[in-house]
Amino acid sequence: MKPTRLLVASTNVKKLRELKELLAGLDLELLFLGDFQTSEVEETGKTFEENAVLKAMGYARQTGCLTLAEDSGLSCDALDGAPGVYSARFAGAGKSDAENNAKLLRVLGSMPDNCRGAHYTSAVAVARPGELLKTMQGEVYGVILTEARGTGGFGYDPLFFYPPYGKTFAEVSPELKHAVSHRAQALKSVRTFFEEFLQSAPR
Ligand code: IMP
Repeated sequence: MKPTRLLVASTNVKKLRELKELLAGLDLELLFLGDFQTSEVEETGKTFEENAVLKAMGYARQTGCLTLAEDSGLSCDALDGAPGVYSARFAGAGKSDAENNAKLLRVLGSMPDNCRGAHYTSAVAVARPGELLKTMQGEVYGVILTEARGTGGFGYDPLFFYPPYGKTFAEVSPELKHAVSHRAQALKSVRTFFEEFLQSAPR
């Protein structure tokens, strides 16, 4: 039997690499936005889940494919949840991870450790044309350091200190990050969903 085709709708190359690693081993043929001609679905939602649903439904409609979309970001306690859904463009549209990190350090300034709590959220939605099939969410809690540490991961990882490891997410292997990350937790539920869905879905 042919594997079911799943469009993984993300334009963030580093996030895409993590999503591929976390979906490995399922009976799915993964497709990517580069395989299609699509127009960008705007992330106009107020929550991660709203954005994941907008993207999954929008790209499923445009491509006719079963589609998985993810929206994620960092929420800081001292900033009332910012940068939140604006994490990718915290320092402005098209700015780099380094520029976003520099802005985060600037706005947190010299706040003490007990005010530097933050968490990552990952919301995942799976849709087929005209039908939302499933949404899932994962979160992981840490502390924002006063300077970057490590070269792994992406985005805010060099600043995101995870107390149980005593390290930032940029200082640990992909395997250790995947053992606890927000994206891995959301994808765990996705794997369970697909295991059932692939049993019942006609190919
Ligand atoms: P999205 O592509 O609109 O979902 O934006 C996600 C943004 O949130 C990324 O560009 C990063 O800035 C941040 N982010 C989400 N997940 C992670 C992670 O695992 N590590 C570091 N930054 C992350």
